[in-house]
Amino acid sequence: MNENDPDVGDGGAADAPSYPAAPAGLDPATPEEWAALRARGHRMLDAMFDHLETLRDRPLWQPAPAEAAAALGTAKPPLGPTPLAEIEADFMRFVLPYGGGNLHPGFMGWVQGGGTAVGMLAEMLAGGLNANLGGRNHAPIAVERQVAGWVAQLFGYPEGAGGQFLTGASQANFVAVHLARLRTLGARARVDGGRPEAARLVAYASEAVHGCVPRAMELAGLGRDALRLIPTDDKGRIDLAALDGALADDRAAGARPFLLIGSAGTVNTGAIDDLAALADRAEAEGLHFHVDGALGAPAQFSARLRSLLDGIARSDSLAFDFHKLAQVPYDAGFLLVRDEQWQRAAFAADNSYLTRAASGLAAGAWWPCDTGPDLSRGFRALKAWFTLRHYGIEALGRVVEQGCDLASHAARRVAADPRLELRAPVALNVVCFGIAGTDDAGHAAIVEALHAGGRVAPSLTVLDGRRAIRAAFVNHRSTTADADALIDGVLALAAPGTGPQGRADSA
Ligand SMILES: *Cc1c(COP(=O)(O)O)cnc(C)c1O
Repeated sequence: MNENDPDVGDGGAADAPSYPAAPAGLDPATPEEWAALRARGHRMLDAMFDHLETLRDRPLWQPAPAEAAAALGTAKPPLGPTPLAEIEADFMRFVLPYGGGNLHPGFMGWVQGGGTAVGMLAEMLAGGLNANLGGRNHAPIAVERQVAGWVAQLFGYPEGAGGQFLTGASQANFVAVHLARLRTLGARARVDGGRPEAARLVAYASEAVHGCVPRAMELAGLGRDALRLIPTDDKGRIDLAALDGALADDRAAGARPFLLIGSAGTVNTGAIDDLAALADRAEAEGLHFHVDGALGAPAQFSARLRSLLDGIARSDSLAFDFHKLAQVPYDAGFLLVRDEQWQRAAFAADNSYLTRAASGLAAGAWWPCDTGPDLSRGFRALKAWFTLRHYGIEALGRVVEQGCDLASHAARRVAADPRLELRAPVALNVVCFGIAGTDDAGHAAIVEALHAGGRVAPSLTVLDGRRAIRAAFVNHRSTTADADALIDGVLALAAPGTGPQGRADSA
């Protein structure tokens, strides 16, 4: 150790390393170093603005070249320093051009939001602040609390509702299953797992429910067999008569129904369950009523679309994603809960290292670690706070309307063309269609060719046992030209003689 430095104590190690003179740590050491970092930071910010401003001029997606794979493939950990300029250059060369495409207006695969430059700025501010939102008494907590209050109001939840950011709806659905189980079994289940009663619990959702819901049952230790997947009607909504039948059968067999999950926008087709009817069932049967609104809940922001979600205000919990139709950058899932006490009953713990104070930094009435599974939590709320305030909730509602209009437009073009077949009714912002006389492999080949073409990116799904091309209009940048590019692109590839290899023409 450095004998001349009075600040460096003897840590007890025989050959402790010598420490640099102040300032220690990872920050720039001099005003000159700060200035250089500042200048580089401004250039990086400009590079991202350039990227966002010129999105339409570049392909939506392109495969990374071998040199990128080589640069990112090295397994050697960087034990020593690398100049920032070099890392930045690698990012610009090997990462930025080869993104997943969801920024692009032609992106309509899966369910992915487009993000915004304003959201990016908020992410930067949050990163600089490096706030930990597990708890304590600081302004970032108040920001998340404010957003949670807005969300509760927007969805018609009562005073006393709880809500917080999570990674995504997968996590939010899982936490909801956990809350519902503890509401049913009582606090004792936190200690003994609710055995043996837990083995009797059964939950209900439609067979169109997102795959994260059966997985939530697995994670919660209930097992996916305890989730009854109820058939859907011709509009893709949970079949209420079949639900009633399953409930009656389970009760007769001695099972204990505890949870009913409605979909506000199924992932495949955007179908919205009859949430009011489900609320009635849940009330009559004494079930926790949860809604997976990952896809469709932001329809609530639109006066035109809101009635599609009638009944959502009667749910006991609602999972949704700010990072899809609400356009907040990844990741920003949210769980809203009718009574914050249910969250506290499920998560609050008496850990000595988290002792609360009456005043000061360790005070504060709301510690999100008491109401959810995470202790260390980032400042996801800030990018939602910026996005909701800057654009206004009505503008986000119009983005949802636009996505629905684009899906309807694409569906009209499908219906008008004998070469194409609509494969599901359009309920929201999703259109699923197929090509007449083309088999599964042919559909897959066409979607792959579209991805490689870099203009539009739908995805594939399976409906009624057949492959369908699926376009979910989530990106706020998408226009009619993008929906037309999808249909035109599919038709061009489907035309006999011009299709990709492996396509099966009608025989
Ligand atoms: C995307 C989605 C999910 C999963 O949400 P993540 O944010 O990706 O975890 C759940 N349900 C539906 C209907 C979805 O569209």
